[in-house]
Parts: sequence; C-alpha cells; structure tokens
Amino acid sequence: MSKFDVVVIGSGPAGYVAAIRATQLGLTVACLEKETNKMGKPNYGGTCLNVGCIPSKALLDSSHKYVEAIENFGLHGITAKELSIDIPQMIARKDSIVDQLTGGVGQLFKANGVTAIEGSGRVLAGKQVEVTKRDGSVEILDAGNIIIAAGSVPIAIPPTPIDDDVIVDSTGALEFLEVPKRVGVIGAGVIGLELGSVWGRLGAKVVVLEALEDFLPAIDQQIAKEAKKLFVKKQGLDIRLGARVTASEVKDGQVTVTYIDKDGEKQEVFDKLIVAVGRRPQSQNLLAGDCNVTMDERGFISVNDYCETEAPGIYAVGDIVRGPMLAHKGSEEGVMVAERIAGQKAAMNYDCIPNVIYTHPEIAAVGQTEEQLKADGIEYKVGVFPFAASGRALAANDTAGMVKMIAHAETDRILGCHIIGPSAADLVQQMVIAMEFGSSAEDIALTVFSHPALSEAVHEAALAVDGHAIHIANKRKRK
Ligand code: FAD
Ligand code: AMP
Repeated sequence: MSKFDVVVIGSGPAGYVAAIRATQLGLTVACLEKETNKMGKPNYGGTCLNVGCIPSKALLDSSHKYVEAIENFGLHGITAKELSIDIPQMIARKDSIVDQLTGGVGQLFKANGVTAIEGSGRVLAGKQVEVTKRDGSVEILDAGNIIIAAGSVPIAIPPTPIDDDVIVDSTGALEFLEVPKRVGVIGAGVIGLELGSVWGRLGAKVVVLEALEDFLPAIDQQIAKEAKKLFVKKQGLDIRLGARVTASEVKDGQVTVTYIDKDGEKQEVFDKLIVAVGRRPQSQNLLAGDCNVTMDERGFISVNDYCETEAPGIYAVGDIVRGPMLAHKGSEEGVMVAERIAGQKAAMNYDCIPNVIYTHPEIAAVGQTEEQLKADGIEYKVGVFPFAASGRALAANDTAGMVKMIAHAETDRILGCHIIGPSAADLVQQMVIAMEFGSSAEDIALTVFSHPALSEAVHEAALAVDGHAIHIANKRKRK
C-alpha cells in the first residue's frame, strides 16, 4: 500500500495549491483528479481552469474587444472595415488558454514532486483513501493527513433539465459555436451575468430571469443600482426580477420557458437557455459511513475556522466547505491547511476576501456593505468618487461607475470598499491589502498615487470620506 504524508482529493485551485504548498514544506503528497477535460487531459485546475474562471474570462475578453471595435473605435478615429466574428476561433483560443494552464499545473506537480494520480478518491476510516482508476482498478492509499478539495458542480433545477444542446449549464454556455439569436439565462448571479454578457455582446438578445425581487442583493445596493442601470440601459440586457422559472419545453431546437412573476404566468422562446442558478458541493460517494467526516443537509463538509473536519487529520477546503465559492478563497484555505499540517500556526482572514463580477464595467468588493453596517448598528462614513471625474478613465473612454469607500465613523478604519468601474478587480485589491494592514481612510488619503491612473479614484474616494476630495465637489465640507 502506498503511503503519503498528505493525500489531496481534487486538483482544483483549492487542492492543487494545497498539494504544492505541502511539498514545499517537505511533505510527501499525492493529488487525485477523477475527471478528464475536453482535450482528453487530466482536469488539473478543476472547475476554475477548465470550465470556470479562466475560460469565462477568455470569452469575456474576446467579446469585450468586439464591442469596443463596434462601439468605440470610431471615437478614436479608427475604422475597421468589414468587422466579423469567428466564434469557433474564439472558442479555440479559449481552449488553448485552458490547455496551457491545466498543462502548467501538471508541470508544477512534477517540478514540486507532487504524485498526481488519475482516479476518483473516497475517504475511508483510518485515514485511508480508496482510489478508483479509470480502468476500474482500485488502490488504497495510506494517508498521514487527507485534504478533501472535491469542489462543486452546477445546480440543476427540475423545470429546466440540461440537454447540453438547447438547455445548458455554465459549462455548455462556454461552448456555443455560433451566436444564438435569443438567449435565456436563469439566475442573475455572478455566473449568469458574466455568461449573459458574453453572448449579449456578441449579438444575442439576452433575457435574464431571476426569482428574487432584488438585483444582486448581497452587494452594496448603491453599486447594484448603478450596475443594473448600466446593464439594462446601456448594454440592453433584459433583466426580469421576481421571475421564477417553473417549466420548459424543448422543440425544434428552441426552448419555451414558462415563468411566474407578479402579473402571473408568462412564456418566452429562446434558442439557448443557460441555467445559472448556483453551484452545489460535489460530496456524493466521497465519504465512507465510518470515516467520521460529517456534512450539512446541503452537502457541505462541516469544518471549523481552520478547515478541520470532525475527524483528526482530515481537512476540507474550497467550494466543498462553507464560505464564498471563489477560487482564491479555496487556494488560501489550501495553503493554510498545508501549513497547519506542517506544524505552522497559519490562519485565514475570512473578513478580507475580495469578490469580483467580471462584467463591463467590473464590480468588485471587499468588506462590509452599507446595508450590513446599518443592520449591525455600526456608525460609518462614506466617500464616493465617480470615474467620470478621473482623467485616466476619460482618456480610456471608460468613465462609467464609481469607487465607494466606507470607514468607521470614529476610528476611521476602512470597513469596506465597493467599486463598479474599469479594472475594479485590480483596484479593489489595493483596499484588500490596506484592510489586511488595518489601514484607516486617512492612511490611503495620505498616500501618493500615480497620475494619471485609475487608482486615483481610490485615493479620491478615501479623501472624500472626510470631505477632502479634490476633483469633485464634496457633499460634506470638512477642514
Ligand atoms: P473545483 O475547482 O471544483 O475542483 C475540484 C476538482 O476535484 C475537480 O477537478 C473534480 O473533478 C475533482 N474531484 C471531485 N471529486 C473527486 C474525487 N472524489 N476524486 C478525485 N477528484 C475529484 N471563482 C473566482 O474566484 N473567480 C472567477 O472569476 C470565477 N469565475 C467562475 C466562472 C464560472 C463559469 C464558474 C462555473 C465558476 C467560477 N468561479 C470563479 C468559481 C471557481 O471556479 C470555484 O470557486 C473554484 O474552482 C473552486 O475550487 P475547488 O478547488 O474548491 O473546486
Ligand atoms: P448565484 O447563486 O449567485 O449564482 O445565483 C443564482 C440565482 O439563480 C439566484 O439569485 C437565485 O435566486 C436564482 N434562481 C434559482 N432558481 C431560479 C428559478 N427557478 N427561476 C429564476 N431564478 C432562479
């Protein structure tokens, strides 16, 4: 029986990062991956690299360039004659990026001495892992420690069964080989908005059906309001809130979707329907009954703040445990667990995890929203700076949105930063770092920022917290 200090189940961003960090710390590590990807290669990188973060961003980038060429090149004095799109080429470019990155994880495994095993893992009692290989053979591994990083899969709902032709999930929505005339998206969450944006930019008429009455209820509502205005009025996304999908019928390559809103039952016909109603942990057939690892009623493995399960020496990280389903959250949990196994006292700051929606403009946030602070009765002050007043944004013809900074009313400590605008993902990271260092709004206000740069909007928002912004009229005048 092979023996490893650590056996990692799953090679997504949580699992492969944990595996690499553990080998760096001198531990012997096996990392299991059960799936092969579209290219027939091991699914290293999991959802994120194969069918999630990276391929969606590749298509968002391609489609953004197309919109830029159509809508904005003229402003710059550039004329592109006979503009056309080659969707199979766009998809092939996306696939080659995926291939490069997943292959890169395989290389990193080799370079770091991680033993990669292609097979499906199951946790047995006594810290053993049963591996079922693709040829059906079974091997038992003896593990000093086990890290479960089996990730998540798209949620399916009974009214709209996935047929991978007309009704697809997020994975299928990355594979259309032509632009559908009409696309329906169920769910106005992060994935629905990103994938709806891709096909909308390329020319599809996109209708988003969302059961909730509020748009993006988890994000700061000033930012959500701005986002909805931009998506609906400027980008033509037809976002229908309070619309619960109840049935569908596929016929002659189209789907008729039935939904209920406040006015009663309605129907819409689409060429493609993208079901983006969330993801669920991939925890079936993963745990032997006597392995002492427990999960909640939704299938999330129960862990404490250090990702320890109830069974000593068995950990779980990433989408399969509580917390935001984000690649970087899983990776950091992977690092923390590897370091704790190696005897270090690593911990994770769950209050400081950035969250991004890669629409255009991007929406990015860290920390608490105004709504959360009000609910908790915490006194705060707010500084807002619009990109319309940023010289760099104007030069780039990208002025929609704002930076909103929230600081504690008395201590001035930054409590949250919420951005909708160009490069919001990169801008918010400045505030993640600042918050990790316990920064006040004044610390940011006293920092020198390059000119002209989009990050000046972050500086001005920090100045605006105390009424000192230079390039807008301050609502509150302070000395
Ligand atoms: P996964 O990435 O799901 O990986 C788990 C791996 O384990 C899989 O490869 C699976 O095959 C394997 N596995 C499962 N069970 C077993 C078993 N029993 N034995 C062996 N192997 C097993 N997040 C972001 O942070 N930013 C984004 O921009 C972003 N965009 C996204 C876009 C889309 C369209 C989607 C679908 C997701 C996106 N996400 C994004 C979410 C992100 O992909 C996940 O949060 C992340 O992949 C979770 O990592 P993980 O390692 O926990 O699980
Ligand atoms: P997220 O979990 O952020 O990806 O968002 C998924 C969204 O899908 C949530 O906002 C749900 O309210 C929404 N949703 C789930 N089921 C339905 C349904 N049957 N019809 C419309 N929207 C739905």
